[in-house]
Amino acid sequence: MGESKSKKTNNKYEFQSEVKQLLNILVYSLYKHKEVFLRELISNAIDALNKVKFTQLTDPDIEDSNLELEINISIDKKNKKLIIEDTGIGMSKKDLVNNIGTIAHSGAVNFLKKSSKLAKDEKVDLIGKFGVGFYSSFMVAEEVFIYTKSHKKGSKSLLWKSKGDNSFTIDKTDNITRGTRIELLIKNDEKEFLEKSRIQSIIETHSKFSQFPIKLENEEIKSADAIWSQPKSNLKKKDYVEFYKFFENTSEDPESYIHISSDAPVQFNSILYFPKSNFEIYGIAKKDPNIDLYSNKILIDKNSKDIIPEHFRFIVGIVDSMELPLNISRESIQSNIKIEKIRKYLVKKIIDELLRMKSKQYDQYLNLWKNFDRNIKEGIINDFDNRKKLSNTLLFTSSKTEKDEFTDFEKYKGGMKDSQKEIYYVSGSDIASIEKNPSLEIFKKNDVEVLYLTDPIDEFVFEHLREYDETKFKLIESSDINLEKPAESDQDEGSLKDLNNFIGYLKTIYGDKIEKIEISKRLIKSPCILLNPADGPSVQMEKVMKMMNKEYSFSKRVFEINPDHKLINQLVNIHKNDPASDYLKKISLQLLDNLILREGVFDNFDEMVERINDIMLKAAENIGKK
Ligand code: ADP
Repeated sequence: MGESKSKKTNNKYEFQSEVKQLLNILVYSLYKHKEVFLRELISNAIDALNKVKFTQLTDPDIEDSNLELEINISIDKKNKKLIIEDTGIGMSKKDLVNNIGTIAHSGAVNFLKKSSKLAKDEKVDLIGKFGVGFYSSFMVAEEVFIYTKSHKKGSKSLLWKSKGDNSFTIDKTDNITRGTRIELLIKNDEKEFLEKSRIQSIIETHSKFSQFPIKLENEEIKSADAIWSQPKSNLKKKDYVEFYKFFENTSEDPESYIHISSDAPVQFNSILYFPKSNFEIYGIAKKDPNIDLYSNKILIDKNSKDIIPEHFRFIVGIVDSMELPLNISRESIQSNIKIEKIRKYLVKKIIDELLRMKSKQYDQYLNLWKNFDRNIKEGIINDFDNRKKLSNTLLFTSSKTEKDEFTDFEKYKGGMKDSQKEIYYVSGSDIASIEKNPSLEIFKKNDVEVLYLTDPIDEFVFEHLREYDETKFKLIESSDINLEKPAESDQDEGSLKDLNNFIGYLKTIYGDKIEKIEISKRLIKSPCILLNPADGPSVQMEKVMKMMNKEYSFSKRVFEINPDHKLINQLVNIHKNDPASDYLKKISLQLLDNLILREGVFDNFDEMVERINDIMLKAAENIGKK
């Protein structure tokens, strides 16, 4: 993560290079929502207060242990300062250097690396979505002062100071009480942030769910109760949305939410949100899960890793259970039987909500699917117990869906022919290339639907599911599929013999490159096709295996030829008249190479190019003769 330690000269330090980048973006862009700096500072203060509250449970002997846990905001108009003070956990010198001089989120750093192409405004907008953090204060302040004293007994009072350029200083300062006091010297053109009414409305909009009192010029701002412990009938959609925005430090609405109040097997309340956007697709790895665990309104595990399975890491919210001990450690959370029960319950509710959205609010579900389909698929692979239920949330394009339309297993089964025994699928890198797959021809001709798998993870999902509602999945490239091709010209005995002779010839020149050669009953437009031996892995799957293990060798395939295709007829003729023809051999070899080429696993280009040139020369000579 770049330089992990800030460079130091006496008490002057340099910001980590990523911080410099971030500051540069924040300070010089014309971000529309500068007021979010206050939300970020209050959110940090709340975190710091939560930490003190939690520490006090096990260790009451901390610095200034009798202080009220609260946030005080004041305005010093004369000196152009906005002051945010908390009685939270405070910071030691080491904390200041590590937390304020560097970016802890690997996500933010990744984002900065990847985002060099984005315009500044777009960047801030995105940064805003995953929390701009403390540094956003430099959007409105020309200088920031942090006075702080750690909760550890005998800590020194410190002053951190920076103009948001490349460096900051840390010095000892006159004694203060435990906690952190942030003074912002407000820029001349941001004077609105020195107006009490403006500050009040920002707090009311962004921070009214604070569990700790927030006082502005000594008056307490009315706060809202912990909404998760209120009865659902008291709450409107607006309340849930506001709480989400506060909780996630975001200006975006959630896609959906659920409020759970359970009495058995464990008594707990929970609100879970399904977000609208996914930052993982910007290359921003989620640093932690987003669920906070409370015991009777006391935060006991922020970003709890064990309350929800990893594949649902995009879900945001809180869980509060009186049945959990307050002084629970990370290890004991992992093995706590009640946590395990809550987790099971949450997973069930989450899947129920996904299914509800899919059937009742399809457009919203579609957006969720486009953002988080990978998470759902991971769930199918990892969660054996819920695999079947989750399979109902999957969406597919198929040989019968229109552009931008999707189908699912249930619809697929509803449209199956009476004689159809299996759910057919094909995989490929995108729809366009799948559509050119010769294996599809017979399915289209017979009006049998085929599901298109375009995400590399899809085949693993199918491997794990194996079937839907007792109907097995079948790759259309399997050699043992018997869809009847409408009869064309009947082969008379003589021509069947010629055909079989030609097949014998192909066997000699293909050698052990293929498993066997057969007369195809499925090809309509293409001369030939490569198929998987019955129930063997697909080429897509084998490519993945090859990627993971260089030694892996592709399995041998079944080569089928289309006896009704003009090219094949020509070749059978040539073979009958001149089995030693050099061109017959070249064209026959090229037939196979074309198929391998199409599958994207070809590696013998030099020989092939030479051969094609020869074939082209012959063709050109013939055309020239006419
Ligand atoms: P984030 O809050 O997302 O981690 P910030 O840049 O806002 O990112 O803050 C960085 C870190 O600085 C925090 O994680 C916390 O450890 C520390 N910090 C910030 N504000 C305070 C505060 N008021 N009291 C104690 N620690 C704080």
